[in-house]
Amino acid sequence: MKYLRGHVLLVGLALFSASALGNGQKRIAITIDDLPVESATPITVEESAALNRSILAALKRHQVKAVGFVNEDRLLVSGKIDAGVAILNDWLDAGMELGNHNHGHVGLWASSLSENMDAVLKGEVFTRWISVRKGVPLRYYRHPYTQTGKSDDEQSVFEDFLAARGYTVAPFTIEHGDYIFACVYDKLPAQDARREQVAAEYDMHLRQSVGIFERMTDELFGRQIPQVLLIHASRLNAATLDRSLSTLKELGYQFVSLDEALKDEAYQTPAKASRRFGPSWLARWARAKGVKLSAYGQEAPGGMSAELHQALCSE
Ligand SMILES: [Zn+2]
Repeated sequence: MKYLRGHVLLVGLALFSASALGNGQKRIAITIDDLPVESATPITVEESAALNRSILAALKRHQVKAVGFVNEDRLLVSGKIDAGVAILNDWLDAGMELGNHNHGHVGLWASSLSENMDAVLKGEVFTRWISVRKGVPLRYYRHPYTQTGKSDDEQSVFEDFLAARGYTVAPFTIEHGDYIFACVYDKLPAQDARREQVAAEYDMHLRQSVGIFERMTDELFGRQIPQVLLIHASRLNAATLDRSLSTLKELGYQFVSLDEALKDEAYQTPAKASRRFGPSWLARWARAKGVKLSAYGQEAPGGMSAELHQALCSE
C-alpha cells in the first residue's frame, strides 16, 4: 500500500512537471462566429440574449478568453438594436473580445472585393464604439465562410486593406461541422428527446475531429501547435459549450487567448487563398508548402444527426 502511494505520487509529480514546463501541453483558443446569434429558425432578441448568457457562463466557468465575431446586420432588428448591442456589451463585461465578421456575412467567393471592403467598414460601427469605450481592442477579422480570396492576389490585396484598418486575420485550425448539428437542434422542438442524442453525437464528433486535426498538425509541423477552434453562437452551443470545453480539457487541452495562440511561429506560414471552400488553415498551409496530408479536415457527421439534417435542413 505504501509502495503504491509512492508510485502514484511519482506519476503525479511527472504529470505536474510536464505541464509546468509546457512540455506536451496542448493549447487551444476558442472563437465563436455569427454573433449575436445564428439560428435556422426564427429567434427573438430576448432568446438570443439568454443563449449568449449561457455561452458566456460556460466560457467563464472554464476561464476561457474567447473572441466573438460579430455580423452587425444581425443587430438591426427594428426597435431592438439596443438589446442587440447589450448582448455584445455582455461579452466585453465577461472579459471577452469582439471581432469583425462583416456586415451581411458577405463572402469573397460570391461577392466582389469592393463589396467585401464595404462590408468590413459597415460591420465595425457598433463593435468599435463599444470596444473602444471599454478599452478593449478591435483587432481581429474573420472572413465569412472563411473565404480569403478567389486567388492569392485577391487574398493579398484584401489582407493589405485589413491590415491598414488595424485588423489581423483570425485563422482557424479546428472545426467540427457544428452548424450541421446546430441546424438539426434548431429544427427539433425544444422538448424533443432527440435533442439529447444530437448533443451526444456532437460531442463524439468533436472528439473524432480533434484527433484528425492533431494528426494533420503532426504531419505538417512535426509537433502540436496551439489550435484555434471555430464554432458558432447557436442554441446548440449555448446548451453544450460547457460539455465541449470539458471534453477539450479531457483531451489534454489548456485554453489560451487567440492572441497567445497566434504568437506561435506556425501562424507565420504562408497560406493559399481559400477559393470557394474555406478549409482549416492546416490544409491551406499544406497546399502552400506542397505537403501532402493524410486528411484535409474532419469527416462528415453520421448517425441520427446526419439523417435528421438531410430531412430537416436540406433545402
Ligand atoms: Zn460566419
